[in-house]
Amino acid sequence: MRLVTALRAALALASPRVSRRTRALRSGPPCSRLQRPRLALPLLRALTSGGQAAGTDCWRCGARAGSSGLPFFCPACGALQPPDESRDWFALLGSERSFRLDQARLQKAYKELQRLLHPDNFSRGAEAERDYSHGHSALVSAAYQTLSRPLSRGLYLLELEGVREGEGERVSAAFLAHVLELNERLAEARGQAEVGLVAEQLEAELGRLAESVAQAFDGGRLGEAGRLLSEMRYLSSIEDKVKEKLFPS
Ligand SMILES: [Zn+2]
Repeated sequence: MRLVTALRAALALASPRVSRRTRALRSGPPCSRLQRPRLALPLLRALTSGGQAAGTDCWRCGARAGSSGLPFFCPACGALQPPDESRDWFALLGSERSFRLDQARLQKAYKELQRLLHPDNFSRGAEAERDYSHGHSALVSAAYQTLSRPLSRGLYLLELEGVREGEGERVSAAFLAHVLELNERLAEARGQAEVGLVAEQLEAELGRLAESVAQAFDGGRLGEAGRLLSEMRYLSSIEDKVKEKLFPS
Protein backbone atom coordinates (compact mmCIF):
# COMPACT_ATOMS: atom_id res chain seq x y z
CA MET A 1 0.00 0.00 0.00
CA ARG A 2 1.31 3.46 -0.84
CA LEU A 3 2.03 5.59 2.18
CA VAL A 4 -0.61 8.20 1.49
CA THR A 5 -3.23 5.54 0.80
CA ALA A 6 -2.26 3.84 4.05
CA LEU A 7 -2.60 7.13 5.85
CA ARG A 8 -6.04 7.81 4.40
CA ALA A 9 -7.16 4.31 5.36
CA ALA A 10 -5.82 4.83 8.88
CA LEU A 11 -7.64 8.14 9.21
CA ALA A 12 -10.86 6.71 7.82
CA LEU A 13 -10.79 3.92 10.37
CA ALA A 14 -9.99 6.47 13.08
CA SER A 15 -8.00 3.71 14.69
CA PRO A 16 -5.65 4.88 17.44
CA ARG A 17 -2.96 2.53 16.26
CA VAL A 18 -2.44 0.72 13.01
CA SER A 19 -0.10 -2.21 12.95
CA ARG A 20 2.90 -1.81 10.70
CA ARG A 21 2.51 -3.42 7.35
CA THR A 22 5.35 -5.57 6.17
CA ARG A 23 6.45 -5.51 2.60
CA ALA A 24 7.10 -9.22 2.64
CA LEU A 25 5.22 -10.97 -0.10
CA ARG A 26 3.98 -14.40 0.66
CA SER A 27 4.84 -16.86 -2.01
CA GLY A 28 2.03 -18.70 -3.67
CA PRO A 29 0.82 -22.13 -2.67
CA PRO A 30 3.08 -25.03 -3.54
CA CYS A 31 2.19 -26.84 -6.72
CA SER A 32 3.09 -30.19 -8.08
CA ARG A 33 5.68 -30.20 -10.80
CA LEU A 34 3.17 -32.08 -12.87
CA GLN A 35 0.76 -29.17 -12.61
CA ARG A 36 2.94 -26.29 -13.59
CA PRO A 37 1.03 -23.07 -14.16
CA ARG A 38 0.65 -21.60 -17.62
CA LEU A 39 3.58 -19.27 -17.96
CA ALA A 40 3.58 -15.62 -18.91
CA LEU A 41 5.81 -14.89 -21.92
CA PRO A 42 8.57 -13.00 -20.10
CA LEU A 43 8.81 -15.79 -17.58
CA LEU A 44 8.91 -18.42 -20.29
CA ARG A 45 11.79 -16.50 -21.84
CA ALA A 46 13.56 -16.38 -18.47
CA LEU A 47 13.09 -20.10 -17.98
CA THR A 48 14.41 -21.09 -21.36
CA SER A 49 17.12 -18.54 -21.98
CA GLY A 50 19.94 -20.00 -19.93
CA GLY A 51 19.34 -20.09 -16.19
CA GLN A 52 22.76 -21.58 -15.59
CA ALA A 53 26.32 -20.58 -16.22
CA ALA A 54 27.67 -21.65 -19.59
CA GLY A 55 29.61 -24.89 -19.57
CA THR A 56 27.81 -26.42 -16.58
CA ASP A 57 26.32 -29.67 -17.82
CA CYS A 58 23.24 -31.25 -16.18
CA TRP A 59 24.24 -32.72 -12.81
CA ARG A 60 21.86 -35.66 -13.25
CA CYS A 61 21.97 -36.80 -16.87
CA GLY A 62 25.04 -34.94 -18.11
CA ALA A 63 23.17 -33.13 -20.93
CA ARG A 64 25.51 -30.56 -22.48
CA ALA A 65 24.88 -26.99 -21.43
CA GLY A 66 25.93 -25.22 -24.65
CA SER A 67 27.22 -21.66 -24.80
CA SER A 68 24.20 -20.04 -23.14
CA GLY A 69 23.99 -22.56 -20.29
CA LEU A 70 21.07 -24.75 -19.25
CA PRO A 71 17.67 -23.30 -18.29
CA PHE A 72 16.34 -23.80 -14.74
CA PHE A 73 15.20 -27.30 -15.64
CA CYS A 74 17.26 -29.64 -17.83
CA PRO A 75 15.50 -29.99 -21.21
CA ALA A 76 16.56 -33.66 -21.37
CA CYS A 77 15.68 -35.04 -17.91
CA GLY A 78 13.74 -32.20 -16.24
CA ALA A 79 16.05 -31.97 -13.20
CA LEU A 80 16.30 -28.60 -11.46
CA GLN A 81 19.75 -27.12 -12.10
CA PRO A 82 21.93 -25.23 -9.59
CA PRO A 83 21.32 -21.47 -9.29
CA ASP A 84 23.68 -19.15 -11.13
CA GLU A 85 24.51 -16.31 -8.76
CA SER A 86 26.26 -14.32 -11.45
CA ARG A 87 23.08 -13.97 -13.46
CA ASP A 88 21.71 -10.48 -14.15
CA TRP A 89 18.57 -10.03 -12.02
CA PHE A 90 16.62 -8.38 -14.83
CA ALA A 91 17.19 -11.48 -16.97
CA LEU A 92 16.37 -13.72 -14.00
CA LEU A 93 12.90 -12.14 -13.77
CA GLY A 94 12.46 -12.03 -17.54
CA SER A 95 12.56 -8.23 -17.71
CA GLU A 96 14.33 -5.78 -20.00
CA ARG A 97 17.40 -4.23 -18.41
CA SER A 98 15.85 -0.81 -17.90
CA PHE A 99 14.92 1.58 -15.09
CA ARG A 100 11.46 1.83 -16.64
CA LEU A 101 9.87 -1.53 -16.08
CA ASP A 102 6.40 -2.91 -15.88
CA GLN A 103 5.81 -3.45 -12.13
CA ALA A 104 2.77 -5.65 -12.64
CA ARG A 105 4.67 -7.89 -15.06
CA LEU A 106 7.67 -8.03 -12.73
CA GLN A 107 5.46 -9.06 -9.81
CA LYS A 108 3.73 -11.69 -11.90
CA ALA A 109 7.03 -13.19 -13.04
CA TYR A 110 8.30 -13.17 -9.45
CA LYS A 111 5.25 -14.93 -8.07
CA GLU A 112 5.24 -17.54 -10.81
CA LEU A 113 8.94 -18.24 -10.42
CA GLN A 114 8.56 -18.55 -6.65
CA ARG A 115 5.74 -21.01 -7.17
CA LEU A 116 7.68 -23.02 -9.73
CA LEU A 117 10.94 -23.12 -7.75
CA HIS A 118 9.37 -23.43 -4.29
CA PRO A 119 11.23 -25.95 -2.07
CA ASP A 120 7.92 -27.71 -1.28
CA ASN A 121 7.82 -28.87 -4.90
CA PHE A 122 11.02 -30.83 -4.35
CA SER A 123 10.31 -32.33 -0.93
CA ARG A 124 10.25 -35.81 -2.45
CA GLY A 125 12.96 -35.10 -5.03
CA ALA A 126 16.72 -35.55 -4.89
CA GLU A 127 18.58 -33.74 -2.11
CA ALA A 128 20.45 -31.70 -4.71
CA GLU A 129 17.18 -30.37 -6.13
CA ARG A 130 15.97 -29.40 -2.64
CA ASP A 131 19.18 -27.45 -2.04
CA TYR A 132 19.00 -25.81 -5.46
CA SER A 133 15.37 -24.81 -4.97
CA HIS A 134 16.28 -22.98 -1.74
CA GLY A 135 19.09 -21.21 -3.58
CA HIS A 136 16.82 -20.25 -6.50
CA SER A 137 14.08 -18.99 -4.17
CA ALA A 138 16.54 -16.80 -2.27
CA LEU A 139 17.95 -15.37 -5.52
CA VAL A 140 14.51 -14.70 -7.00
CA SER A 141 13.41 -12.94 -3.78
CA ALA A 142 16.53 -10.80 -3.66
CA ALA A 143 16.11 -9.91 -7.34
CA TYR A 144 12.47 -8.92 -6.83
CA GLN A 145 13.15 -6.89 -3.68
CA THR A 146 15.88 -5.02 -5.53
CA LEU A 147 14.09 -4.41 -8.83
CA SER A 148 10.65 -3.58 -7.45
CA ARG A 149 11.87 -0.44 -5.65
CA PRO A 150 13.10 2.51 -7.73
CA LEU A 151 16.06 3.39 -5.49
CA SER A 152 17.57 -0.10 -5.31
CA ARG A 153 16.71 -0.75 -8.98
CA GLY A 154 18.54 2.40 -10.04
CA LEU A 155 21.58 1.63 -7.89
CA TYR A 156 21.67 -1.93 -9.27
CA LEU A 157 21.51 -0.59 -12.83
CA LEU A 158 24.42 1.76 -12.10
CA GLU A 159 26.35 -1.19 -10.66
CA LEU A 160 25.72 -3.19 -13.84
CA GLU A 161 27.13 -0.20 -15.76
CA GLY A 162 30.21 -0.27 -13.52
CA VAL A 163 29.35 2.93 -11.62
CA ARG A 164 29.54 2.86 -7.83
CA GLU A 165 27.34 5.05 -5.66
CA GLY A 166 29.00 8.38 -4.90
CA GLU A 167 30.99 8.37 -8.15
CA GLY A 168 28.40 10.46 -9.97
CA GLU A 169 27.51 14.12 -9.55
CA ARG A 170 27.12 15.46 -6.00
CA VAL A 171 23.81 16.66 -4.62
CA SER A 172 23.55 20.44 -4.41
CA ALA A 173 23.67 22.55 -1.24
CA ALA A 174 20.16 23.76 -2.14
CA PHE A 175 18.87 20.20 -2.13
CA LEU A 176 20.51 19.49 1.24
CA ALA A 177 18.86 22.62 2.64
CA HIS A 178 15.52 21.32 1.33
CA VAL A 179 16.14 17.97 3.12
CA LEU A 180 16.90 19.83 6.33
CA GLU A 181 13.69 21.81 6.03
CA LEU A 182 11.60 18.67 5.41
CA ASN A 183 13.17 16.99 8.43
CA GLU A 184 12.36 20.00 10.59
CA ARG A 185 8.78 20.09 9.34
CA LEU A 186 8.40 16.43 10.16
CA ALA A 187 9.93 16.83 13.63
CA GLU A 188 7.51 19.66 14.39
CA ALA A 189 4.45 17.99 12.83
CA ARG A 190 1.70 17.31 15.34
CA GLY A 191 -0.92 14.68 14.64
CA GLN A 192 -1.50 12.43 11.65
CA ALA A 193 -2.89 15.20 9.46
CA GLU A 194 0.30 17.27 9.65
CA VAL A 195 2.52 14.24 9.18
CA GLY A 196 0.26 13.33 6.26
CA LEU A 197 1.02 16.63 4.53
CA VAL A 198 4.74 15.86 4.66
CA ALA A 199 3.99 12.33 3.41
CA GLU A 200 2.05 13.68 0.43
CA GLN A 201 4.81 16.11 -0.48
CA LEU A 202 7.42 13.35 -0.23
CA GLU A 203 5.40 11.02 -2.40
CA ALA A 204 5.00 13.70 -5.07
CA GLU A 205 8.71 14.59 -4.99
CA LEU A 206 9.77 10.94 -5.12
CA GLY A 207 7.48 10.40 -8.11
CA ARG A 208 9.04 13.33 -9.97
CA LEU A 209 12.52 12.11 -9.04
CA ALA A 210 11.79 8.62 -10.38
CA GLU A 211 10.77 10.13 -13.72
CA SER A 212 13.97 12.23 -13.82
CA VAL A 213 16.06 9.15 -13.03
CA ALA A 214 14.34 7.29 -15.87
CA GLN A 215 15.11 10.15 -18.27
CA ALA A 216 18.75 10.26 -17.15
CA PHE A 217 19.12 6.51 -17.79
CA ASP A 218 17.30 6.87 -21.14
CA GLY A 219 19.84 9.50 -22.16
CA GLY A 220 22.83 7.52 -20.86
CA ARG A 221 23.62 10.27 -18.31
CA LEU A 222 24.84 7.98 -15.54
CA GLY A 223 26.46 10.67 -13.41
CA GLU A 224 23.18 12.56 -13.29
CA ALA A 225 21.29 9.34 -12.54
CA GLY A 226 23.68 8.76 -9.61
CA ARG A 227 23.02 12.22 -8.18
CA LEU A 228 19.25 11.85 -8.55
CA LEU A 229 19.41 8.46 -6.83
CA SER A 230 21.34 10.05 -3.94
CA GLU A 231 18.53 12.61 -3.69
CA MET A 232 16.06 9.76 -3.73
CA ARG A 233 17.94 8.09 -0.86
CA TYR A 234 17.68 11.28 1.25
CA LEU A 235 13.94 11.57 0.62
CA SER A 236 13.37 7.84 1.20
CA SER A 237 15.03 8.08 4.60
CA ILE A 238 12.63 10.89 5.54
CA GLU A 239 9.80 8.70 4.27
CA ASP A 240 10.98 5.95 6.65
CA LYS A 241 10.72 8.42 9.52
CA VAL A 242 7.20 9.35 8.38
CA LYS A 243 6.22 5.66 8.49
CA GLU A 244 7.76 5.35 11.94
CA LYS A 245 5.62 8.28 13.12
CA LEU A 246 2.45 7.00 11.52
CA PHE A 247 2.87 3.32 12.35
CA PRO A 248 5.17 3.05 15.37
CA SER A 249 6.42 -0.48 15.87
ZN1 LIG B 1 19.44 -33.64 -17.30
